Amino acid sequence: MSIRKLDEEYVAGTYKRFPVEIVSGHGSIAVDVDGKEYIDMGSGIGVTSFGYADVEWIAAVTAQLGRVQHTSNLYYTEPCAQLAKRLCERTGMSRVFFGNSGAEANECAIKVARKYAAEHHGSERFTIVTLKNSFHGRTLATLSATGQDSFHKLYQPLTPGFKHVTAGNVYELEAVAANTPVAGILIECVQGEGGVLPLDGDYVRAVYEFAKKRDIIFMVDEVQTGNGRTGKLYSYMHYGVEPDVVTTAKGLGGGLPIGACIIGEKVKDVLGYGDHGSTFGGNPAACAGAISILDRIDDEMLDEITEKSKYIFDELTGAAGVESVAGLGLMVGIKTVKPAGEIVGKCIERGVLCLTAKDKVRLLPALNIPFDTLKKAVAVIKSACAE
Ligand SMILES: *Cc1c(COP(=O)(O)O)cnc(C)c1O
Repeated sequence: MSIRKLDEEYVAGTYKRFPVEIVSGHGSIAVDVDGKEYIDMGSGIGVTSFGYADVEWIAAVTAQLGRVQHTSNLYYTEPCAQLAKRLCERTGMSRVFFGNSGAEANECAIKVARKYAAEHHGSERFTIVTLKNSFHGRTLATLSATGQDSFHKLYQPLTPGFKHVTAGNVYELEAVAANTPVAGILIECVQGEGGVLPLDGDYVRAVYEFAKKRDIIFMVDEVQTGNGRTGKLYSYMHYGVEPDVVTTAKGLGGGLPIGACIIGEKVKDVLGYGDHGSTFGGNPAACAGAISILDRIDDEMLDEITEKSKYIFDELTGAAGVESVAGLGLMVGIKTVKPAGEIVGKCIERGVLCLTAKDKVRLLPALNIPFDTLKKAVAVIKSACAE
């Protein structure tokens, strides 16, 4: 039986896969089972930050695998402590809880906001406000946080205590807070799954100020936008705000599962012994890989990301068959005249892998994609849009 048939028979049918079986890769090139090469403009949905078979990442992970691959959280390990130190130093925040995914990082954030609110304002203050069109994960709590009804339909009753407000309208948030005690607000500065939509700067600052004034925990979901993706280490850094909690995952691990809930000064002591946990969280191999990723996202790399972003925007804005281009850094959404799925299909035929988000073609290439490779991919996308 072909792998495709095996998968369709035995793997839960939750994913609509493209007809490509990837067997290996190098840098931004993915290779399929027939030896065909693709320029990967999706990097596993923003996960393989430095591409495939990245020498430094492999060295960091395998060195750790050769020492100890897992200890449980009953013991200390160096990679976990060193990664937490780096995340705190580079955000000015105080502590990190490690899990294994974006959803788990957000679960932790929700717990932090609820516990802080219960301790400081009473147990009726539990509501978490998120934005319409947001995406925060697939667990029941993060699904409830996700402001898109299409994800909710068949999973009722959802976890109570979530309210969704319209992005860009701070009065709606104020109106909710006037009627409901709000523990925390969770936003994506660039809505990824929602269609690669950056929030307005004045809006983000107004939400931040409002939260600060009311002692509402201000949380930014950087699962997709984090770790250099937008041209800053974390996307909130574009907006001049200081979150109480930052969650991240996807690109942090460079390909191994890791999620981090980074906790700021105000809430740094909220989680104590027994309040939360994860068997795999802080796994030494995953953390060793993440350190090798984070240490290479320096100012030079961030400038390069911004430069590549500008190239993509310049090439595609106003191009034939392109209605609009939106995003930040190497997180780009292209509204095309033809259906996005059709463009992505054409690109696959011509050796370029792209993603979609809502009705857009979405690009999340590796941060270190070589300029000439990027140029080739953009030319293919451009011609697919123009036809
Ligand atoms: C992908 C994503 C998540 C969920 O992450 P998982 O690792 O799939 O649990 C949460 N929030 C945002 C913004 C995401 O893009």
